[in-house]
Amino acid sequence: MSKKIVISHRGACGYLPEHSMEAKAMAHAMNADFIEQDVVMTKDDYLVVLHDHFLDGVTNVASVFPQRARTDGRFYVIDFTLEEIQSLHMTEAFKTPDKAIFPERFPLWQCGFQVHTLDQEIELIQGLNKSRGKNIGIYPEIKAPAFHRFEGKDISMALLSVLKKYGYHSKSHAIFLQCFDAQELQRIKNELFSQFDMQLKLVQLIAETAWGETCHYEKGEVINYDYDWMFKSGAMQKVSSYADAIGPWFPRIVDPKSTTDNLIFTELVNEAHQHNLAVHPFTFRRDKGEIPSYANDFETFLDIFYIKADVDGVFTDFPDLAVAFLNK
Ligand code: CA
Repeated sequence: MSKKIVISHRGACGYLPEHSMEAKAMAHAMNADFIEQDVVMTKDDYLVVLHDHFLDGVTNVASVFPQRARTDGRFYVIDFTLEEIQSLHMTEAFKTPDKAIFPERFPLWQCGFQVHTLDQEIELIQGLNKSRGKNIGIYPEIKAPAFHRFEGKDISMALLSVLKKYGYHSKSHAIFLQCFDAQELQRIKNELFSQFDMQLKLVQLIAETAWGETCHYEKGEVINYDYDWMFKSGAMQKVSSYADAIGPWFPRIVDPKSTTDNLIFTELVNEAHQHNLAVHPFTFRRDKGEIPSYANDFETFLDIFYIKADVDGVFTDFPDLAVAFLNK
């Protein structure tokens, strides 16, 4: 396996609001190997970089457009134009407008951040690669492709065409393309890559079925995708037929029942490596309550995964700390 990597999760979001341009510039300055983009589509077919296909958890949409929620109370990116979205104030992720998810991070509602397009972010990263003499990669995630299709939009086609336009079309390029949806990854691998005359490294993200992360829409019904097969023996062979890496939740690699004296490793990394799949678990945070009890501090947490579990990369909100760890 090649050099171990640091993936800056939503940018350097431990320090600046997730998916702000500022958080991406900071991640670049910290020399993360890859910077992540979560990609969703607007009403007028722009690709924007936001963790969810909702606007209500990171912007003031509810006060600017109070009448525009759907019946579930949520404000969907796909119901707004890019111009409307860019008129909003973006901030640190929050539970309620006065309660941040990570209260020790950048203050809420400070500094007037803004949602940006995928094109803008790629231009930022490529521009910094030029001015800093680097080749820092991108790590886009296609969010909820089945939901977008249900709404009449083909987000994968749109994303591949942007990637191709910016010169990402070969497995040797500094890019991983990630998705939770196994069917969509297979569609990309088996149909879309030949249509676009491109090949990229694909990452199968692995959720827990109970999260309801991946929904499919069949005859008007929403069906929660069952991930259980991915944890059974032989699953990695199947995944390796269409993907180059997996992105599991870290408790699937080190059993949460582990203690400092007794770390319990699952077979997942071994099985993935046997099939030439790189392993990039998420999400490594040093905030209060985010370091598992079997690790005394953040550095030990990284050591357990990078060295003892032998993963190939981690998604982290604190790329400076992971870069410093690997440089030692
Ligand atoms: Ca993501």
